[in-house]
Amino acid sequence: MESIIKLENVHKSYDKLDVIKGISLDIKKGEIISLVGASGSGKSTLVRCINGIEKIQGGNIYVNNEKVNSHSSVAGKVGMVFQNFNLFPHYTVINNIVNPLDNVRGIKKDKAKKIAKSLLEKVKLGDKANYYPNELSGGQKQRVAIARALSMEPDIILFDEPTSSLDPQLSFEVFKTIKQLVEEGYTMVIVTHEIKMALDISTRVIFLDKGKIYFDGKPDEFYTHESERLKDFLENII
Ligand code: ADP
Ligand code: MG
Repeated sequence: MESIIKLENVHKSYDKLDVIKGISLDIKKGEIISLVGASGSGKSTLVRCINGIEKIQGGNIYVNNEKVNSHSSVAGKVGMVFQNFNLFPHYTVINNIVNPLDNVRGIKKDKAKKIAKSLLEKVKLGDKANYYPNELSGGQKQRVAIARALSMEPDIILFDEPTSSLDPQLSFEVFKTIKQLVEEGYTMVIVTHEIKMALDISTRVIFLDKGKIYFDGKPDEFYTHESERLKDFLENII
C-alpha cells in the first residue's frame, strides 16, 4: 500500500524538554489510526510535527514520499481539525470554507461557494451556511471545521481531540461524521480520549507514553497487550 506519511527516528524537544524521542512510523493510504496516551505524552506535538507546524530536531518526515521542511510544504496535503474548532468568528459558516478555498487553492468565489455548499451538506449543515459560528452548537462548529479541512482535498486528516470540548451527545455526532469519512476511504489520525468510539472505527491503534510508542497494532490486540505502561494507562481511563 501507498505510504502517505513516513516518520524516521523523529526527535522533538522544547528547549531542554525532550517530547518526541525517536519515533518511526509509516502510515498507509486508507488507514484509520487512533493515537492515544496520557495527557502530556506528546500526541499533539507529534501531529503538529506531521503537519509541519513544529520544527523537529532530528529525523525525517515525509508526506507522499516528499520530505517535509515547513508548514507550507505540507499545506493542502495534510488537513487538521483541532479541539477548539479554530473557525473565524466574524465569517459566516460558508465563508469559513469559501475564503480558504479562494486564498489557499485559488478557486474563484462562485465555484468555491458550490464546493462549500456541497461539503456543508455532507456534514449535514446545509441549512446553516449563513449562520455565524457562535450561533452553532460545539458539535456543529466541529463539523464545519471538518468540512473546511475536506475542502483542501487533503491526503490525510489529523484530528487533535476533536470531541474533548463536547458533551457525549455532541461527541457522538462528530464521531458519526468521522465514521462517514471512514466509509469514503479517507486516511486519518485521530488523537482522542474517546477510546471506545475511536477503536470502533480504527484499523490501527498507536499508544504513546512519554514520547515513545509502546503499542502499534490492531484494535482487538490493544486491551490484551502485555505492556505495563499500557495497563497503567487503561486502568487510569476506565
Ligand atoms: P499531549 O497532546 O499528549 O497531551 P503535548 O504534545 O501537548 O501532549 O505535550 C507534550 C509535552 O510537551 C508536555 O510536557 C508539554 O508541556 C510540552 N509542550 C507542548 N507544547 C509546548 C510548547 N509550545 N512549549 C514548551 N513545551 C511544550
Ligand atoms: Mg494534546
